[in-house]
Amino acid sequence: MESETITVTTYANYADKLDIFFQHYPNHRIYIPPIPPILNRIPKKNRICRFCGKDATQTKFKHEPHIIPRLLGHNYGVSDFECDTCNLHFGTLENHFADYLGLSRTVTAVGRNKVPKFTSPLDSLIAAKTSSGANKDFITISDESGDNFYFDQEKSSWQIIYKKNPHTPLNVYKCLLKIALSVLPGYELKNYQAVREFILKGSHTEYFKPFAKVVRMTTEFSTELPYCIIFEKQNLKDQVPMHMMYLAFENVSYQICIPFHKLDTEINFSGIVDLVYAPPLIFTDDKKPAEFHCDMLDLSSSEQLKGQQGFISFRADSKLFTNAYDTKTKQFVDKPFVPNQITKVFLSKHHGPIDFNDLSV
Ligand SMILES: [Zn+2]
Repeated sequence: MESETITVTTYANYADKLDIFFQHYPNHRIYIPPIPPILNRIPKKNRICRFCGKDATQTKFKHEPHIIPRLLGHNYGVSDFECDTCNLHFGTLENHFADYLGLSRTVTAVGRNKVPKFTSPLDSLIAAKTSSGANKDFITISDESGDNFYFDQEKSSWQIIYKKNPHTPLNVYKCLLKIALSVLPGYELKNYQAVREFILKGSHTEYFKPFAKVVRMTTEFSTELPYCIIFEKQNLKDQVPMHMMYLAFENVSYQICIPFHKLDTEINFSGIVDLVYAPPLIFTDDKKPAEFHCDMLDLSSSEQLKGQQGFISFRADSKLFTNAYDTKTKQFVDKPFVPNQITKVFLSKHHGPIDFNDLSV
């Protein structure tokens, strides 16, 4: 597996926060998926699954398991240490992750070649890339009922409030831990027996639930490729977990701790564990100040959530909404902008005009 030594830093206005984080976690390794795909792979007959421990005589290695799931962005980073049985299991966890992300997966992929389609329950909201016609490569968000679109005139904020598909948050957390175990060096797996049993068999669930928290940071900038950084503490006596994982995709990053490392014997995991988190990370020296949005996600529920609300907001100046276009007469009409009558929204990274003659999805 490719692992690179690259210096990470943060925006100028968060340098202090990063210094504190580095005091606890001075070591790190970065995993960036390769471009193009790696050719010299381990022969299938010599592979051993790092999750279940089986070799090629006990299980099969026909699949191409991704280290960072493709649902977080197209990439060529596949592993030689995940058997087909484990891969099928993790695939079901990834479906929960996709449903958890919901519409945001489609919206953040604007301008990309591959854009996942999103359909909310009962088809009340559909988002997809236009594959043909004059408005090719736009992302269209359709809501014939108009019930999911809101425009907050005061805040100049345009919002989509919609229902996500059913999913179990704890499975999303398992999926994140699985990515962490995939990026760690192979010799660490023996130190994370409890994590392996939790993500494969659902063992020790009550012990893991308190740690199923994710710090999510949203920045204005997107990463082309998803990537992952594992931070490691140096002082075994330090009262923080051995490893933290920082996972970045599109304009979002997730941070979790990886609990129950075998050598974290100084930590009382059943008590309150103080966690330290990094600010948004960048690889460039151009450390202009920047703002980001940060929130803590609770993924501890092992219940399947139905009808959970998803929310996306855009800044949009109401002065931009000047003309109404009548799709029947195919003409601009002199009508006031009525925010609650929006039924379709087009998103594009290009600045070109939209072709009003072709407004189909
Ligand atoms: Zn396996």
